Amino acid sequence: MRRKIVAGNWKMNKNVIDAQQLMFQLLQYKKNNPASCEVWIAPPALYLLMAKDLYENNEIGIFAQDMSAHESGAYTGEISADMLESIEATGAIIGHSERRQYHGETDAHCNQKVKLALDKGLTPIYCNGETLEQRKAGQHLEVVKNQTEVALFTLSAEEIKKVVIAYEPIWAIGTGETATPAQAQEIHAHIRSLIAAKYGQEVADEISILYGGSVKPDNAKEIFSQPDIDGGLIGGAALKIDDFAKIIEGFNA
Ligand code: PEP
Repeated sequence: MRRKIVAGNWKMNKNVIDAQQLMFQLLQYKKNNPASCEVWIAPPALYLLMAKDLYENNEIGIFAQDMSAHESGAYTGEISADMLESIEATGAIIGHSERRQYHGETDAHCNQKVKLALDKGLTPIYCNGETLEQRKAGQHLEVVKNQTEVALFTLSAEEIKKVVIAYEPIWAIGTGETATPAQAQEIHAHIRSLIAAKYGQEVADEISILYGGSVKPDNAKEIFSQPDIDGGLIGGAALKIDDFAKIIEGFNA
């Protein structure tokens, strides 16, 4: 069944005191406001264990912002799927455009990471999306097709069902510019049809596809109401409890 999800990507923000405060505020909010969707956060890796301790009943999913494509060994600075499994994290964001842009991550890396995550029982949130130049050149459908095929289409049907996809047009991330609900819906339907062509409609209908790119309290409801959009991956607006809460409520209305 397609899950409805609002996931916050905190990126490299907040010191430990502020992170703890926001985690606590979110927990209080969640306890007082039964949501119509799952709520996940991806804080900096340093704070994952703190989140685990605070959310001991797993009421909020805990994700790393990235994980290594290697199982273990001499990879300074990396965290492994095994480590995430050992702290009972829910999963990891994989292939965020900032990892691609600043760390040279490719869809081949994403493919390795997605497989490793699934092997350890973690949920991968696999991100894709086109640049502004690619959209202007009318290449967005083709770009997203290639990304999805390279990163995911070596998986079995059972495996791909466990992946959450986040379509995040790069031109809309952190820019204040959002894809229109129609633009986002077009790509989401496209991704679902690619999956249906490869794995069958039943599999495609089970996969949650999130939209990411300047989702805010005032546009969340309309974006989430699109038939192929199952929620959002939220950056800037996940850093303030009031904004994040209003986005979660985009599903309640
Ligand atoms: C993101 O980084 O995944 C993202 C969607 O950021 P923002 O909401 O700030 O555009």
